[in-house]
Amino acid sequence: MRALLLSGLVATASLAGPLIVIDPGHGGGQEGAASPGGLLEKNLALNISKKLKAKLEAELEAKVKLTRDGDQRLHLDERVMFANRQRPDLFVSIHANSMPTASQRRVNEGIETYFLSASASGEDAKKVAARENAEGRQQAKAPSSDTLAFILADLQKAETHHDSSRLAYSVHESLIAGTGAQDRGVQQAPFYVLMGLEAPAVLIEVGFVSHPREGARLADAKYQQQVAESIAEGIKAFLAQVGARESKRSEGVVPAPAGGSR
Ligand SMILES: [Zn+2]
Repeated sequence: MRALLLSGLVATASLAGPLIVIDPGHGGGQEGAASPGGLLEKNLALNISKKLKAKLEAELEAKVKLTRDGDQRLHLDERVMFANRQRPDLFVSIHANSMPTASQRRVNEGIETYFLSASASGEDAKKVAARENAEGRQQAKAPSSDTLAFILADLQKAETHHDSSRLAYSVHESLIAGTGAQDRGVQQAPFYVLMGLEAPAVLIEVGFVSHPREGARLADAKYQQQVAESIAEGIKAFLAQVGARESKRSEGVVPAPAGGSR
């Protein structure tokens, strides 16, 4: 709610709602993960993204842009460039997981939320990043660790990276509370789609389409709505957290009173 976001702040007429870019993973010939029953990650990601957009527009008066709003193929670097052009307050990429073998499909379920790191937080996180990075354009080869270290050295100087971590925890906690899904934790990994973004950015694996029970839930529009609403709640909480700091920034545009709080 706008009132929550702006609580304690001086709302000015020019202060529009936050600008948010949502990135539904995959699209077109890039279907992403698939369940044995035929649920495709690309469709699930788009459905949840559209529901999330509607929720954010209604609740936060947010301006929301989708990197794709249909079943088109989009390269990872195009997603990044599109997002940066919007100069968003935050970026959320929506994905879903799957497991390759029948025995793994039976046991692996739950939600993971990622933010960017040069090295993966574990073997599973490394595999997820490798799968999600696989459709990069000229990225058959992984970027060198030097390149990554350079990007991250720069990032870490900025508060953007710290905010990505905050955003990840905020969204993840809300998702686990709101869906009752298994908590696979906040993770870090070198995702291409999160590199080079000039805004707090997270990638959410909303569940395993390959798990018998979770896959069926994910196919259900009502559960998709629940996922979208939980993400929106997490975003709202994050924006409230950073609201005070953003307010100081806008005070910089309109000169702050002498000795204004810092
Ligand atoms: Zn994906």
